[in-house]
Amino acid sequence: MTTEALSERELDDYRSGADRFLAELDEEYYLHYAGHKPDFELRAIYERHADLTDLETVKRVGSAVDGRENLELFRFGCEGYLGELTRGHAERIAELEATLEVAHNGETIGYRMLKPTIANEPDRAVRARLESMRNELTESQLNPIHVDAVETTQRAVPELGAPNYHLLYRDRLALELDGLVAQCRAFLDQTDRLYEDSMDRTLREQVGVGLAEAERYDLARFFRGSSWDAAFPADRMLPALRGTLANLGIDLDAQANVHLDVEARPTKTPRAFCAPIEVPGKVMLVIQPMGGPDDWRALFHEAGHTEHFAFTSPDLKMEEKRLGDNAVTEGWAMLLEHLVGDQSWLTRMLSFPKPQEFAAEAAVNLLFFVRRYSAKLLYEVEFHAAADPTTMRSRYVELLGDAVKIEPSPTDYLADIDSGYYCTSYLRSWAFEAQLSTFLREEYGSDWFTRREAGSLLKELWELGQQPTADELLKDVTGAPIELDAVADKIRTALPSFA
Ligand SMILES: [Zn+2]
Repeated sequence: MTTEALSERELDDYRSGADRFLAELDEEYYLHYAGHKPDFELRAIYERHADLTDLETVKRVGSAVDGRENLELFRFGCEGYLGELTRGHAERIAELEATLEVAHNGETIGYRMLKPTIANEPDRAVRARLESMRNELTESQLNPIHVDAVETTQRAVPELGAPNYHLLYRDRLALELDGLVAQCRAFLDQTDRLYEDSMDRTLREQVGVGLAEAERYDLARFFRGSSWDAAFPADRMLPALRGTLANLGIDLDAQANVHLDVEARPTKTPRAFCAPIEVPGKVMLVIQPMGGPDDWRALFHEAGHTEHFAFTSPDLKMEEKRLGDNAVTEGWAMLLEHLVGDQSWLTRMLSFPKPQEFAAEAAVNLLFFVRRYSAKLLYEVEFHAAADPTTMRSRYVELLGDAVKIEPSPTDYLADIDSGYYCTSYLRSWAFEAQLSTFLREEYGSDWFTRREAGSLLKELWELGQQPTADELLKDVTGAPIELDAVADKIRTALPSFA
């Protein structure tokens, strides 16, 4: 028996309900993480909008799907329904992560501070000890809750019309997974040697150990990139962003719908973030500048999201503004983020010392992440199709270890999963960035980021919000579909001595 589809009018109510729900979540997120409000109160918001995630309603939205028509609303409903079932798990995990501690040198370190502490710790033996304490806590305290959450989800998925989570996304929600999986396999294959050689040399230079001896706790140290801190001071981050946007014809301080939150507050999260409370009416860009290459990249990434949402046309439907293909917004974020590794940008905007060296290191960094995410997608596809999640521990180590040549901790096999296959948005956004920036360079020159015409094109594309998919947008502009090969080409260009 099929469920009766929601009427057009009911669908419109569902849309406006979802719009308010997402606005309230983004506002609460902003207030808490910007340090304006100590509590993070989601329960009341979920309760106010319980009708959106009610199983019968979600099924009726599903019956209204016709091709891509209403598909995004159905995906929103499915994720809301499953999210509601595991909200208790997520809350317990968050609470434990915020309260668990380990004893170290007569002090205590909170669970969430362990990763940054490892990244900032110069002594290898201490890094190893901290990591093993973290893994023990993950295994004994958090993993039992993760397993229960996965099993709860598995039991609920058939209600949504698919035998398992993988098929729910691939078939019911029409996520193009098979083609991307094939591209990931090819990428891993084609860049294997390039990765081994370039990563080995970079690790020797930055951490003092080669790839064969390196352990995962050495990686955090490498990604921190502290040897470049002096070139990326905290007080120049915002001026560099303002200057870059100004050259593209965007006056950041005159954008009435963009709210820049730069004030220091004791409980403000140190990492930059964007909260699109109203799209395009009220977009928050939050930052507490600390400096260092990672902090700069994070600010430019979030500024990419911010400008995308701020220029989105107010006339689009809710799902074309707030839902849709997230590879689009991630692609815009990557386009701005990758300027902070672009030789021309570094030279022109920062009169940077040794831009080539930094750009090469940024390329190795990118290679690592694209390989890691490629393997993650292969793993997640197997994980979501598996009947018993607890059997997947060794596959996790095998697939991710093969890709980055450094074994991950088996204890992370559950937490290292992005719900709703979000990893595909990142993978496709990396390709989108590589292809679009090549187009911009060919069209406007290697300093395209200083050209008004380039800025006008970006604004025109941002206006479309997430109405088109990343593939459609790219095809419109460059004529090509999304190809991970483009990322491999970009990396080879930045690493001439290995290509
Ligand atoms: Zn992002």
